[in-house]
Order: sequence, then structure tokens, then C-alpha cells
Amino acid sequence: MNNFNNKVVLITGAGNGIGRATALAFAQQGASVVVADINQIDGEETASQITQAGGIATFLSCDVTIEQDVKELVDGTLAIYGKLDIAFNNAGIEIEQSKLADGDEAVYDKIMDVNVKGVWRCMKYQIPAMLLQPTSVIVNTASIAGLGAAPKMSIYCASKHAVLGLTKSAAVEYAKKGLRVNAVCPAVIDTDMYKRATQNDPQKQQYVNNLHPIGRIGQPEEVAGAVLYLCSDLAGFTTGVALPVDGGSTAI
Ligand code: NAD
Repeated sequence: MNNFNNKVVLITGAGNGIGRATALAFAQQGASVVVADINQIDGEETASQITQAGGIATFLSCDVTIEQDVKELVDGTLAIYGKLDIAFNNAGIEIEQSKLADGDEAVYDKIMDVNVKGVWRCMKYQIPAMLLQPTSVIVNTASIAGLGAAPKMSIYCASKHAVLGLTKSAAVEYAKKGLRVNAVCPAVIDTDMYKRATQNDPQKQQYVNNLHPIGRIGQPEEVAGAVLYLCSDLAGFTTGVALPVDGGSTAI
């Protein structure tokens, strides 16, 4: 794996789950990590785990639905570390659990505001800073729900399809400027989001395990591995891709 010494990495939704695992992984590879999250306690905990292990990290509070927060997040990163090399736009929510016709407009707006507009806002403020570097990389968190249907999660599904639209368009727009833009598409990953969805019900959990040809759900560290690969020089010719991290789910 590449060494991320001297790289500055900004991660949203880094207070928990996939974001935290990726923050820890980047820090272990030598990166300076800006841990961004709406949840101050959880974000500070991630930063503290990194610094206690000898790494470099700063927590910056950010709600990706607030433009000023996002602007201050990028400005703060530049003020503290002087540059931005890598961004992992990962903050996302699920909430909705109903068929399309039973959906609620406020839920629609909330999911889209965090999952789509949040990623758009982040890229809008990150890209000008990243173009100052000879090379830079953005990875956005989509989902296998960005690649196909997600029954009873149609709004979430649409939001993750939209993340791929933003990812691919930005990848093409900035390909000649040294900026690569890719997405990861996890299947079910063992985080609080999964625990909320299955409510610790062993039957539900077994059902979800069986959806994956590999016979189990994924671990956040396995998504982190894919993100680090996409951000490394090993992926220097890779831009505009939606990489499934899914135990074979989309191969069926
Ligand atoms: P999680 O709920 O464990 O963590 C999400 C983090 O995002 C939390 O720390 C939360 O505080 C933060 N967050 C939420 N709203 C925010 C906002 N408005 N601004 C800033 N931070 C905010 O979830 P996770 O499972 O780690 O999910 C991370 C990403 O992965 C999400 O985009 C999710 O849609 C996606 N994903 C998750 C799974 C899964 O099964 N867990 C599968 C596919 C994709």
C-alpha cells in the first residue's frame, strides 16, 4: 500500500463507522487527517484515537447540509495544514423505511440534503483548494444502492445514484487537472447504520448476511482499504469509477 506521509486528508462522517475506520487507516499510513462530523463527541473520539496512537488529526465540526460549515471546514483545513490532497466525502444518512408511495416529502428533502447536496457542497469547496496541488483525489461514498434497486429505500437509492452522477461528471471535468474523483459502493457494512436497520434481530441479520455471496456483511476496515487504494498512486489511471465493495453482491 502507498505511504500517505505528508498527505492531508479530509473525511466527512468520520465520527463513526466507515468514516472512522478510514480516518484511522489513513493516519496509520502517515497522513494528517481532518476528522469532520456533525457529532462533536464522536468526531473528537476519532481524532483522539488517532493522536493517542501517535498519528496526526484534528476534529472540525461540520454539518454538510450547511454551506457555511463546509466552507469553514475547507478553510480550516488549509489554515491548519496548509493544503488539501485527499477528500473522502462519506457523511450520509438512511432514515426512510417505506415503499415509495408511502414516502414523506420532508424525509425526501433530508436524505437528499445530506447524501447528495452534502457531497456536492463538499466538492464545490474542496476542488479549488485541491487544484492547487499537482495531484489530488476525491472519493465519495455511494452504495450498491447507487448501482441498482433498494426496495423500501427508494429515496436513499436515488440519492446514491445521484452521488455517482456527481462523481463521474467531476472526474471528467477535472481529469486533466491532476484531480481524480471516484466512488466506493459498499454493500451492507457492520456499522451503526446496519444496527439501526436490523435492530439487533438475529433473523434479520442472518437474512442480510445471506444477501452477500461471500456469506457475511462487510467490515468498515474493508471499505477503508478500498478508499486507500483509490487514493494511492496504484490507482493513478483510475478516475470516474464506482467501485463495489460488496462481497460479490453485484456480481449475481
Ligand atoms: P454511520 O451512521 O455509522 O456514520 C455516519 C456518520 O456521519 C456519523 O458519524 C454521523 O454523525 C455523520 N453524519 C450524519 N449526518 C451528517 C451531517 N449532516 N454532516 C456531517 N456528518 C454527518 O454510517 P456508516 O455506515 O459509517 O455510513 C457512512 C456512509 O456509508 C454513508 O454515506 C452511508 O450511506 C454509506 N453506506 C453505508 C452502508 C452500511 O451498510 N453501513 C452501506 C452502503 C453505504
